[in-house]
Amino acid sequence: MEKSKRIYMDYSATTPAKQEVVDEMLPYFTEGFGNASSIYSYGKEAKQALDQARERVAALIGADPQEVYFTAGGSESDNWALEGAAFKNRKKGNHIITSKIEHHAILHTLEYLEKTHGFEVTYLDVDQDGKISLEDLENAIKDETILITIMFVNNEIGTIEPIKEIAEIAKKHKILFHTDAVQALGNVEINVKDLGIDMMSMSSHKIYGPKGVGALYIRKGVMIDNLIHGGAQERKKRAGTENIPGIVGFGKAAELARVNFKEHVEKLTRLRDKLIDGIEKAIPYTKINGHRTDRHPGNANFAFKYIEGEGMLLLLDHLGISGSSGSACTSGSLDPSHVLLAIGLEHEIAHGSLRLTIGDFTTEEDVDYVIENLPKIVQRLRDMSPLYESAKASGEVK
Ligand SMILES: *Cc1c(COP(=O)(O)O)cnc(C)c1O
Repeated sequence: MEKSKRIYMDYSATTPAKQEVVDEMLPYFTEGFGNASSIYSYGKEAKQALDQARERVAALIGADPQEVYFTAGGSESDNWALEGAAFKNRKKGNHIITSKIEHHAILHTLEYLEKTHGFEVTYLDVDQDGKISLEDLENAIKDETILITIMFVNNEIGTIEPIKEIAEIAKKHKILFHTDAVQALGNVEINVKDLGIDMMSMSSHKIYGPKGVGALYIRKGVMIDNLIHGGAQERKKRAGTENIPGIVGFGKAAELARVNFKEHVEKLTRLRDKLIDGIEKAIPYTKINGHRTDRHPGNANFAFKYIEGEGMLLLLDHLGISGSSGSACTSGSLDPSHVLLAIGLEHEIAHGSLRLTIGDFTTEEDVDYVIENLPKIVQRLRDMSPLYESAKASGEVK
């Protein structure tokens, strides 16, 4: 095996910026450095670039450009949508509904609203595939409910939530509906008008654009408080001199995602299914986490019984393979991921989980290499595992 081999399978953590994206960004650091608010020609050039990027992001999601507000990323968009809607509607009510499997940018913002501002939050359970129940959602609604926030696609297990149906329920009860679509963008079809979404968070670096840029879609007519106060940028809704190179890069990435959508989804789906089938056949005592078909085209998530995810990641890294584990040990916590626990995995099994997420630069050879090598790693870890030893002794494992 070549030492230099590097296989990146963590596209849900971040993606490399595409060369075309970087090429479009570069002039805006130098010749095109103007401030979009200035009236002279430097400013006008920046303003034009900003407008074009806004049109491109809007086109990807079926929105009007005036409904797209640029931010510094998915986390800011989530914070803004939740805090902005909560504070704006505080007089109407203090109740918010979400799910147990949201990204921390949602969960920690809601905890803050609960602890510091007296909001009450209902965290909906999900089933074993990671889907919320529409019946549970309806039952959770109260007179005080002002906001429902449910993610479009889960970042760990790839499950796609029933967004259109959720939006219909929200509309019926006149409640605002926000969705974190960071993982969905460019990977599942999104038309905010057809789906009935009021607010939607997006991030550039998950779709082959630069980091530190994102957007919040706010449907025309929806009023929320500002999060970042200052100048009059973004139609007075989000202050701060615009990150023109970043926004231009996001715009280009959105354009590429729109144009290449079908091809991208077909390729990823095929490679993902090959990866899942190959690993499932080669490794006994394996469970696939997340919904079998309603899932992100690039997401594979496995639970291997009797092993620890950390050891697996290290051994994979030795072979040049980058993945992510279901245990949060790397982030300084001993608890397994809240998402894996919410779908009902026992702690032990959640700890033996592995997320491999593929993308546009993943090749057939990369997938073959993982299918060839991962089974050896899992067996090696099982051979050292006391859990495996006792499972053999009890006859659970043959
Ligand atoms: C990555 C991610 C975010 C955060 O986006 P940033 O641009 O990194 O701040 C939020 N939600 C989900 C589902 C994500 O995957």
